[in-house]
Amino acid sequence: MKAIAIDGPSGAGKSTAARAAAKQLGYLYVDTGAMYRAIGCRLRAMGVSQNEEEEVARALEGLKLTLSFEGGDQHVFVNGEDMTGVIRTPDASRAASDFSKLPCVRQFLFRLQQDLGREQDVVMDGRDIGTVVLPWAQTKIFLTASAEERARRRFLELQAKGQDVSYEQILSDVRWRDEQDSTRKTAPLRQAEDAVLLDSTGLSLEQVVARIVALAGEGENA
Ligand code: C5P
Repeated sequence: MKAIAIDGPSGAGKSTAARAAAKQLGYLYVDTGAMYRAIGCRLRAMGVSQNEEEEVARALEGLKLTLSFEGGDQHVFVNGEDMTGVIRTPDASRAASDFSKLPCVRQFLFRLQQDLGREQDVVMDGRDIGTVVLPWAQTKIFLTASAEERARRRFLELQAKGQDVSYEQILSDVRWRDEQDSTRKTAPLRQAEDAVLLDSTGLSLEQVVARIVALAGEGENA
């Protein structure tokens, strides 16, 4: 099986670029952030606190996360409910980051993510794909961009969806999530030693995708 692991901070353009690269290569695109978002939203809705790990572990026993892929688009379900439409808000981002710190939450999603990488050719994006989930991936990319550029992109994206958000708030959210994701004890965001650093600041989506596809070719020959 072939795997391309793309990690990096929020808003670096991982999902859009990974999806497009997967399409070009004929691989399945797996968005692991969506899984953390769906679980985080559900735990939040259940009133569970991220500070009570035992309570979270108990709550997870009653939850089942499944994915479906329709025309290459991933849908994420929790106990059969399609969460895909409700996981792209700033609250969902915070819930994902808050609960993804917990080892029990990471363990809950790890097996599913690893199995997907074993069963088919994938482009998988997240924070710990090259370091923890698919350490054997032939191609590893750490995709980043400046915090301001990432906030600007997220702002335009949410604005286009009609959400009432401020750039300053998004920039502060981006910085807060960078800090929380890279300083947590379990599977922190970091570049794998064998990952290629790709800074997308000032690059177009097409340029980023072309670079990923080229790196995948190099990875196969390696
Ligand atoms: O990539 P996305 O912004 O959708 O991820 C939401 C949050 O989920 C991240 O801020 C991070 O806390 C968590 N996450 C993670 N590990 C992954 C993917 C996402 O901890 N592999």
